[in-house]
Amino acid sequence: MGLDKHTILEWVVRAANCITGIDKVVVATSENANDNPIVDWCTKAFVKCYRGPEEDVLDRFLGAAEGADTVVRLTADCPLLDPAVCSQVLRLLKTTDADYVGMANWPDGLDCEAFTFDALKAAAAEAKLESERSHVTPFIRNRRHRFQVRTLECPLPGLRKERWTLDDPQDLLFLREVVAYLPEHRPPWYAEVLEALDKHPGIRVFNAATERNEGYEPSMTEGSFEVSAEFLERAEAVIPLGSQTFSKSRLQYPVGHAPLFITHGEGGRVWDVDGNEYVDLVSALLPVTLGYGDPDVDAAIRAQLSDGISFSLASTLETELAERLVEVVPSAEMVRFGKNGSDATSAAIRLARAYTGRDHVAVMGYHGWHDWYIGATSRNKGVPDAVSDLTTMLPYDDLGAVCDYLKAHPSEVACLIMEPMNRRDPSLGYLAELKEMLRAEGTLFIFDEVITGFRYGLGGAQELFGVTPDLTTLGKGMGNGMPISAVVGRADVMAEMTEICFSGTFSGEALSLAASIATIDKMRREPVITELWQRGWSLAKQTRRLIRRHGLTSVIQLVGKAPWMLLEFADHPAARKEAIQTLFSVEMLRRGVLILGSHNICYAHNDADVAWILEAYDSTLARIAKELETGSLEAHLPCPAIQPSIRVR
Ligand code: PMP
Repeated sequence: MGLDKHTILEWVVRAANCITGIDKVVVATSENANDNPIVDWCTKAFVKCYRGPEEDVLDRFLGAAEGADTVVRLTADCPLLDPAVCSQVLRLLKTTDADYVGMANWPDGLDCEAFTFDALKAAAAEAKLESERSHVTPFIRNRRHRFQVRTLECPLPGLRKERWTLDDPQDLLFLREVVAYLPEHRPPWYAEVLEALDKHPGIRVFNAATERNEGYEPSMTEGSFEVSAEFLERAEAVIPLGSQTFSKSRLQYPVGHAPLFITHGEGGRVWDVDGNEYVDLVSALLPVTLGYGDPDVDAAIRAQLSDGISFSLASTLETELAERLVEVVPSAEMVRFGKNGSDATSAAIRLARAYTGRDHVAVMGYHGWHDWYIGATSRNKGVPDAVSDLTTMLPYDDLGAVCDYLKAHPSEVACLIMEPMNRRDPSLGYLAELKEMLRAEGTLFIFDEVITGFRYGLGGAQELFGVTPDLTTLGKGMGNGMPISAVVGRADVMAEMTEICFSGTFSGEALSLAASIATIDKMRREPVITELWQRGWSLAKQTRRLIRRHGLTSVIQLVGKAPWMLLEFADHPAARKEAIQTLFSVEMLRRGVLILGSHNICYAHNDADVAWILEAYDSTLARIAKELETGSLEAHLPCPAIQPSIRVR
């Protein structure tokens, strides 16, 4: 197959020969007879050719690379390869401690990766998954704890949208057009390709058509989530659901269309087991407030690690952290620690019951997995009625409902626990009047600030709204991902803690305490909270603009406060809201954004991350708008619509 008078393979081999630092070019092909013409061409052109198994591409590649200490891998679907860029990739490998160097944000069709022969040998010896054998480098890329992986970033913004690769007949037409404007006797530089495209914008029509068709395909990029899907089988053999958390499981991420396992994170980004990179808008379900691998928090954890993790008596860090919470959280006079948010909310409820001598509790929002709360939701299997009957879910921002409830249970209600805000702002005066109403009834007022704490403000929503509860529960963002939570509150109520049982082996575990101290100190030292608000707000504003531009305001809304914004989907005559949300998730994931119905901003999210998210939004919303217009959204869903595991907000 020719581009001009040369075949595609000739274009690629010519570019390979121009890479600085290359000693030998080897064409690797399969033993299949269909590939005989490749071997014939190599013989005529005096290019070394290696034939290996058709299915085990990794083994074939190892054979082709035998004798080298460094390997550059190019693919024959990239005729416009730029040898100068490939030389940079190779140089980066040779001049650093890297075992592998790949490329990020370059046009699709300049693909080049370089790696050590040792890394390749280890991959060929150890890779077991079919998806790791039918490709060459996933085994290396997915093991960053073992291999040093580096990336050559494209210096020009916006180029990752360019498509110069050869996958289908339209691509071939595009490439044939563009090469007419490129130098004849040497491989082109990517800047020359860009210039040709700028001067002759008509050529882009071919490539734009390919992009669009791809976008309308209801199927995923082939093989993108293979390792995730394969690993799920292994996980589910030993772990029910293959995950510890509903919201991190296949219930929310459709198998084959989404990542299911993450290998590592850095700043505001994460990588899955297939080697896909995402801007992460989930932030581990909100504990990641600063970012993955925050240097200050990690240093604190490492320093503590050398002293120990869990001790036989209390650690002094408990007091140091408690003192900080008393300083920053307006209602905190005394503090006790737990591990999960559910520990803190359950301890607060037991404490309120013990303090008031009453059994009934009212709830507003989500408060964890323990019996007293979950029994009042649709996920109540396994909870005795005797327990569920004591808990009542009340609507937010409705004083009348609370008043009626208190009247129905005179002197029986121990407490009301609520998320001070999630989706919508409270009406003016609501929280203050609620506090007064509860006080008059002798009912304790508890703010569940497991999410809003260290996010709406260092002192949480109570600082923002200027209303202080009797008790507050904290968790998530306190330790930037380390497992720690707390109950804080009025000293006279907290004193009752010595009478109830809230006592755990790990509640004073020192790595989490050290991480929380470092997190809070950083939040006080640097404009973390301001950044969460500003970046969250800027992202929300631009997202809303895109929703408007694509005419989707009646089906998608963004609500909440800037540091934690939630997406709301509504039914459309052509599709149910669950179907719209599913297409939204799948499309955003395809475009490298990990999102689960909310914007969970962290301090490490930067301008490039926001630009990446907006780019994904733009194409995703375009697809949703088109599918709704043609009435084909439900029919084109690549998987069954995702259902919420519990709906409580
Ligand atoms: N309260 C709120 C407001 C929460 O969002 C959560 C967790 N999503 C919890 C309590 C329970 O926290 P955990 O999952 O850490 O037990």
